[in-house]
Amino acid sequence: MTEKETFTNTGWKLDNSYALLPKLFFSRQDPTPVRSPKVIIFNRTLANTLGLDIRHLEGTEGAVVFAGNQIPEGSVPLAQAYAGHQFGHFTMLGDGRALLLGEQLTPEGGRVDIQLKGSGRTQYSRGGDGRAALGPMLREYIISEAMSALGIPTTRSLAVTATGEPVYRETVQPGAVLTRVAASHIRVGTFQYASRWGTAEELRALAEYTIKRHCPEAEEDENPYLALLREVVKRQAALIAKWQLAGFIHGVMNTDNMALSGETIDYGPCAFIDAYDPATVFSSIDVHGRYAYGNQPGIAQWNLKKFAETLLPVMVQNREAVLQVNEALADFNQLFYDRWLAGMRAKLGIFHEEQQDGDLIGNLLEMMKTHRADFTNTFRAFTLEKPEDTALSGTEEFRLWHNRWQARLGRQRESKDDSLRLMKENNPAVIPRNHRVEEALEAAVKKEDFSVIERLLDILSDPFAYSPGQEEYASLPESKGCPYRTFCGT
Ligand code: AMP
Ligand code: MG
Repeated sequence: MTEKETFTNTGWKLDNSYALLPKLFFSRQDPTPVRSPKVIIFNRTLANTLGLDIRHLEGTEGAVVFAGNQIPEGSVPLAQAYAGHQFGHFTMLGDGRALLLGEQLTPEGGRVDIQLKGSGRTQYSRGGDGRAALGPMLREYIISEAMSALGIPTTRSLAVTATGEPVYRETVQPGAVLTRVAASHIRVGTFQYASRWGTAEELRALAEYTIKRHCPEAEEDENPYLALLREVVKRQAALIAKWQLAGFIHGVMNTDNMALSGETIDYGPCAFIDAYDPATVFSSIDVHGRYAYGNQPGIAQWNLKKFAETLLPVMVQNREAVLQVNEALADFNQLFYDRWLAGMRAKLGIFHEEQQDGDLIGNLLEMMKTHRADFTNTFRAFTLEKPEDTALSGTEEFRLWHNRWQARLGRQRESKDDSLRLMKENNPAVIPRNHRVEEALEAAVKKEDFSVIERLLDILSDPFAYSPGQEEYASLPESKGCPYRTFCGT
């Protein structure tokens, strides 16, 4: 990739390799300036790792850049084209309210997309206003940063900047722009777009770009596209296993919301489960439960199939190629299960494999489902060795299971303390509880009180700390009247 060296006093070192792809893949577009930009949250730690000058960006300079009123040096802003299956239906999409400013070359030699979300209309906006509301952008900031701290691959949030302009949704909301940082924004939907509207040459250009950027080892392979597919399958299997182990529901796993980098992307109606139940759905628009917690691995595989279909025509056309692709897709199941099982063992303090482990774990989850045990707090209580007084913990079947588990731990060479340490590293003391997130957003949006969100971000920044301050954030909401609902929140 070409390296355009442009250091500035704010630390921007932007390259624009995506703009060298065929014109089909993007359209040049500058952000639409806003009335009175004001930085609401700025991620200093992340800015540091990007090589940005915190002092400069914290002031008005940051506000004008993060709101899109001024373009940073070296940036060639563009809207990316993509398509996608939304709830199973194929549609043309594209960045309707986002712009890629460029790729920041980091001091550590990395290359990450800097994207503004909510920066105004583009040629892909269709009926939309190109804008975003403050609440949903703060929500993406909280959840994506929490995911990162949980060790789950994700896009990051650098800043949320209020625009000083209203956005009109069901109610009038304050507008905001999110500055998002990602390994890239290449989606399954980007390949679907190329496959549907591009030539074979254009699709090859995208595939080669993706390989260079995310999977350079595939270049050496005799079938680089198959190697790319295998790598993407592997990363998604690892990612979805991490989601399941943390109780995360993405909520809208459309093919345009699946990044080939293997990062979690596009935080809309996502949320963490409380009571363990694979059928859990929070999103108000997911009426049939397509993206329910327990369906996520199957949906990931479905999306990967859509990705594979775009590659087949440019791969060697023979029966063997089709078989290899099918095999790569089928591998997802085992790759996912192995990662998930290894993660569950760690959550229970188990170091080595035993044939019966799957059974032991399955029995626990079955009981948790029956008694609606809180997913995070069940494992937290195990880690703290402090049994909670729950519907599950008082049962005879749980007592018997607990004995079986303790006997299992007794059969390994590692000590009890080793097990507890392993559990502490794998069972978060806190997750972004839905009521805590709502409380922080309400204070910020309705009262312009940002102290609640700052404290929440601090608590979530080290979820495995088990610090005294985290205790109150582990508790469940007082009354559980109606089930929690999330909205797409555009
Ligand atoms: P999402 O639900 O965020 O994955 O977005 C789905 C599609 O709708 C993408 O193409 C977005 O760019 C587009 N979109 C969402 N909100 C807006 C908006 N306010 N204005 C224009 N396009 C939007
Ligand atoms: Mg999206």
